[in-house]
Amino acid sequence: MCRVIKFEPMKKRIAQLQEQLVRERLDGIIISGLNNIRYLCGYTGSNGMMVVTRRAAVFYTDFRYQEQIKTEVRGCDKKILERDLYSSFPVAELRRMLGGKRTPRLGVEEGNLSLARFRMLRRQLKGFRLIPVRDLVLELRRRKSRSELARMQRAQEITEQAFNRALRLVKPGITEQDLALEIEFYFRRFGEPAFPSIVASGENGAKPHARAGVRRLKKGDAITFDIGCRYQGYCADMTRTVFLGRPDPELRRVYEAVLQAQQEALGAMKAGVPCKFVDLVAREYLNQQGLGQFFGHSLGHGVGLEVHEQPALARTSRQVLEPGDVVTVEPGVYLPGKGGVRIEDMVLVTSTGIRNFTKADKELLII
Ligand code: ZN
Ligand code: ZN
Repeated sequence: MCRVIKFEPMKKRIAQLQEQLVRERLDGIIISGLNNIRYLCGYTGSNGMMVVTRRAAVFYTDFRYQEQIKTEVRGCDKKILERDLYSSFPVAELRRMLGGKRTPRLGVEEGNLSLARFRMLRRQLKGFRLIPVRDLVLELRRRKSRSELARMQRAQEITEQAFNRALRLVKPGITEQDLALEIEFYFRRFGEPAFPSIVASGENGAKPHARAGVRRLKKGDAITFDIGCRYQGYCADMTRTVFLGRPDPELRRVYEAVLQAQQEALGAMKAGVPCKFVDLVAREYLNQQGLGQFFGHSLGHGVGLEVHEQPALARTSRQVLEPGDVVTVEPGVYLPGKGGVRIEDMVLVTSTGIRNFTKADKELLII
């Protein structure tokens, strides 16, 4: 039977970037970020560069990827360079692509280009104006396609399966590391960990970004799992806090407050709502509960090919939620010396509200 393989709309993505070039008054751009390159042409290797002008797009890599790119890279020309991509930049070809335009304005990705590489480019690109740009491709990456959403949903399912397996192992004496290892072993069957797993127990829970360590679980601990699988390139991100034995009354109260703060924020979300407003909804609720000072990070972030993408659900954000955004909503309260609670879901923003990818229970769980 003939199976139809549906390709990502690479040509369309490149065309959208070309429209942005016009808007930004750029004649071309050098794409250095590997996830941006993957988004634009499908390449998954570790050495690559893309040059996109208003009319053309070329992907460059080295000999090692010659075979891989035959089928993988789509929607643009592809070339193998004999030497390092940046120290022997294809200047003559770029000039041809630009049709001999004088002092072309060429964007470079300031967040993805080392200073050493920037200097190499500047030495070779005489007569060009190099313009540092931010977030052009990240803006495009916000609006997830149906196939991207399907991958993210699968990534989330795997994450929850791993979480459920780990819960069965929670008992006094087991270390945080053992639990993280179990989770990541499971991820490896399907993909890879999207980020180093956080398993933070007892007083470690007061550190929002604690790594899983050698601490052994004890009765009375709150245990925060912040985990995510990366499946076919796309990340999941979820946090749950569970209790081993009867919770401390203060932490129980904190748990209910964090959960309510999250529910209120989720209820306030839909396309068109300013990101900072969603952050404020959760923050105000925790302030009312006298816990605001213990919620020191922003409410959430976009997720996709990377675990931290646009937009930011933060007090300082000037972004507005758009249909197709996938973002996390993760209020947390951290009591120094005592422990912490964070609850994180990953949701799709729609024109009328949200679709929540995260199905794992949020009722207070005592093991
Ligand atoms: Zn997380
Ligand atoms: Zn997160």
